[in-house]
Amino acid sequence: MTHAPPFASSADPGVDADTLSMLRETLHRYVRERLVPLEDQVAREERIPDEVIAEFRDMGLFGLTLPAEYGGLGLNMSQEVELVMELTWTSAAFRSLVSMNLGVGSHAILMDGTQEQRHRWLPDLASGKVIAGFALTEPDSGSDSAALRTRAVRDGDHYVLNGSKRFISNAPLAGLFTVMARTSPERLPGNAHVSAFLVPADTPGLRVGEKDRKMGHSGAATADVYFDNVRIPASALLGGVEGRGFVSAMKALDRGRVNISALCVGQGKRILHEMLRYATERKQFGKPIAEFQLLQAMFADSKTDLYAAECMVRDTARRRDAGERISLEASCCKLFASEMVGRIADRCIQVYGGAGYMQESRVERFYRDVRLFRIYEGTSQIQQLVIAKELLKTFEAF
Ligand SMILES: Cc1cc2nc3c(=O)[nH]c(=O)nc-3n(C[C@H](O)[C@H](O)[C@H](O)COP(=O)(O)OP(=O)(O)OC[C@H]3O[C@@H](n4cnc5c(N)ncnc54)[C@H](O)[C@@H]3O)c2cc1C
Repeated sequence: MTHAPPFASSADPGVDADTLSMLRETLHRYVRERLVPLEDQVAREERIPDEVIAEFRDMGLFGLTLPAEYGGLGLNMSQEVELVMELTWTSAAFRSLVSMNLGVGSHAILMDGTQEQRHRWLPDLASGKVIAGFALTEPDSGSDSAALRTRAVRDGDHYVLNGSKRFISNAPLAGLFTVMARTSPERLPGNAHVSAFLVPADTPGLRVGEKDRKMGHSGAATADVYFDNVRIPASALLGGVEGRGFVSAMKALDRGRVNISALCVGQGKRILHEMLRYATERKQFGKPIAEFQLLQAMFADSKTDLYAAECMVRDTARRRDAGERISLEASCCKLFASEMVGRIADRCIQVYGGAGYMQESRVERFYRDVRLFRIYEGTSQIQQLVIAKELLKTFEAF
């Protein structure tokens, strides 16, 4: 299959191999020595300690994927997924803190913002001074995201926003929201009724609701965001052109889906590790349960699942770095990786037996956390629809 290269005319080299390996080793150690011991506290207190947020800033984690000219580290996608796989050996809440700055919250600005918007926001997003939120979903529009109702009405040199957004990650911490709003009352072809706006969280009329009470991901907050006659300058329109918001969102989500797939691999590796550790320690019938072949089949299936997902993630990242359009591959990755980590978490509970059902076991928490990955940034069904649509467009060239 061939793809037109819409992102770059040449491969994105990212950082040199020594820098990447130093970053990986540092993160590998930091995750095990600093973050893993904090997992229970983060789950209990439902927040990431301020000192950890400061350490993330010092380590440059908010700016991994932004170019050096904006203060980022300039990793390409292949390098980004390697670091995300390292970071997600621990609770997914830690990655959630930086996820919007690494992905949809900054890359829509990088890809489609004006020069002024890039210079105004990207350095603060790269340093972590500002945490990003991405506001697309609404009470009545989730999978059918273009059916959104939030309105942006032009009034002289301003737009006035009214409406509400639902389940917005990082909303209580965010300093900037990329908000998708309708600039035309009619639904237009190509979803050109949707525009994107860069809205500072302290704009009068913007209100963040109570933190949602979720099944998992304790420590990573989501909330509703309300817009009540929020008046923003016309210069806040992403790219300065109406009607391009939906396309910007979808481009940014393609990247986001690969990042989430890498997250699924990282979590899957950790859960498999916990599965093997427990199975070698727990004894029944006079020997470690790891010696029973029926359990060994679960280890083997989990490793095979993980290996497949890891290969898919690396291949898709490499294609994007080469400038290929990756909508199809990104959806294949998100679909497979999010389902595979669910299977691994389920097997892990089985290997733990009754202990796996108890809250004291870490794996019960992972089981709840990974359930989310099949839902957000496009459910599994939506990924299937994207894959089928792309296939039907391109199958004749196979
Ligand atoms: C913890 C969390 C964090 C989130 N963070 C953000 C965020 O930061 N920003 C943001 O904008 N959104 C965010 N979301 C929202 C998330 O992206 C949506 O929940 C998701 O896209 C699904 O939309 P929905 O919940 O409205 O489900 P619905 O769209 O109502 O779907 C319900 C079911 O119907 C299925 N379905 C829908 N349409 C079809 C179809 N055409 N064919 C087959 N099946 C279909 C779905 O797959 C699903 O199984 C977050 C959600 C959660 C839970």
